[in-house]
Amino acid sequence: MHKNLIGGQWVDGRAERINLNPSDTNDQIGVYAQASAEDTLVAIDAAEAAQPIWASLSLQQRADALEFIGTEILSRQTELGTLLAREEGKILPEAVGEVVRAGQIFKFFAGEILRPQGEHLDSVRSGIEVDIVRQPVGVIGIIAPWNFPIAIPAWKIAPALAYGNAVVFKPADLVPGSAWALAEIISRAGLPDGTFNLLMGRGSVVGQSMVESPKVKAISFTGSADTGRRILTTAAPRLAKLQMEMGGSNPLVILNDADLDLAVDVAVQGAYFSTGQRCTASSRFIIEKGIYSRFTAAVQEKLQSLVVGHALDPQSTIGPVADKAQFELNLRDIKATRAEGARLAFGGEALTRETPGYFMSPALFVDAEPGMRIAQEEFFGPIACAIPAVDYEHALQLANDSSYGLSAGICTNSLKYATDFKRKVQSGMVMVNTPTAGVDYHVPFGGTKGSSYGSREQGRYAAEFYTTVKTAYTRY
Ligand code: NAP
Repeated sequence: MHKNLIGGQWVDGRAERINLNPSDTNDQIGVYAQASAEDTLVAIDAAEAAQPIWASLSLQQRADALEFIGTEILSRQTELGTLLAREEGKILPEAVGEVVRAGQIFKFFAGEILRPQGEHLDSVRSGIEVDIVRQPVGVIGIIAPWNFPIAIPAWKIAPALAYGNAVVFKPADLVPGSAWALAEIISRAGLPDGTFNLLMGRGSVVGQSMVESPKVKAISFTGSADTGRRILTTAAPRLAKLQMEMGGSNPLVILNDADLDLAVDVAVQGAYFSTGQRCTASSRFIIEKGIYSRFTAAVQEKLQSLVVGHALDPQSTIGPVADKAQFELNLRDIKATRAEGARLAFGGEALTRETPGYFMSPALFVDAEPGMRIAQEEFFGPIACAIPAVDYEHALQLANDSSYGLSAGICTNSLKYATDFKRKVQSGMVMVNTPTAGVDYHVPFGGTKGSSYGSREQGRYAAEFYTTVKTAYTRY
């Protein structure tokens, strides 16, 4: 049994969960403890007690701890990547890439600890000087989704610790394995007991208790828009600091002058890799009419060449859907979209493989209408639709016709349209001739409209959320 980490001790759960491999449901990955609401409160108390001790360690001690974590993650990338591929279902190269990213994030924030941000200024009054410093917020509650089981926890935990906060971390119930492995590494990094706590368990129990506790000063959440709204309703009245990254319905515009081969690569990678289970996945291909037929035909040809299979099979280019509930939801979404009148040009079918798993072929709908559910809501799977556009202006208008605004892309050789799109598209991230999914870890990540709430994650911008600013005046 893999236990929770509370106040520096490995603690049994009040229940347990068996973690299964979506590529082969006969493959049991392990048994993981489930924390209760009481366990959560004990962990929050431990974090509150530990935070000032951790914050008072020297910068070098804190930097060394994060450096240790990053180095160990990188040195075990194949092992941890294999675990991640087994529990979440992304193919091994993608899973190893995610682990590497997690290691790099810890190293980046180890470096940030040694570059503290602050300012020393003269006052507007004579004889007075001003210092502006960033201080820790306190106890941070971290709630993660299942689709990036190690990278998303890393990009929240690393900055939280770097800036001197203590952490209570709840991974998604579906993927406790990678979270537990990460916690085990952190537990050996020399942090004072209670600085970092792992609470595996249900969102409605562990997550809810974290969100309700007045001792949790800030909550960093990534997940669905519905859960985000629920968290906002509970935490905002008690004035908790909130950062929420939620869903997307990301447009990729393809103009007549685009390099067709590049555009097809950008579209297929962005929409279907990682089984389309990325908040930044392209789900709406918005295509200028002069290239519409050629582009949709070429995408279908490319999809023919993809191999859906076991995440650890080197032949596979797309792994399974992460679990039964998501798999069944995807198939229901496909059926409903057909009923709405979009034409399913490719895939969208359940597949049988040697092992029992949640395999489906990538789906492409053509001639979709902007008002259809597929063009408005987030379908969290390997499903995309093609929408024709009359010209660039129409394509831009269609791209912005969404309640979400996470990532957007354009494929064009026109500097004029690329520049205009970067300026006018309503999204937190915008890509020119590169997929909507796949971002760097040293620059800010986040969206606009219904996709994000609060300040940005990652890079130096993470300091905005994980610190509070103090302005000190001194008469001399
Ligand atoms: P989810 O169902 O909203 O769950 C996210 C996390 O919230 C899980 O740990 C969940 O616990 C927890 N939770 C559930 N109910 C809660 C409550 N009442 N209080 C506190 N926590 C609660 O999302 P998901 O299905 O795991 O992830 C997929 C979604 O995440 C998609 O919409 C995707 O777009 C989004 N996502 C967004 C980004 C981004 O940066 N914008 C990145 C990745 C994913 P349980 O696991 O126990 O339910």
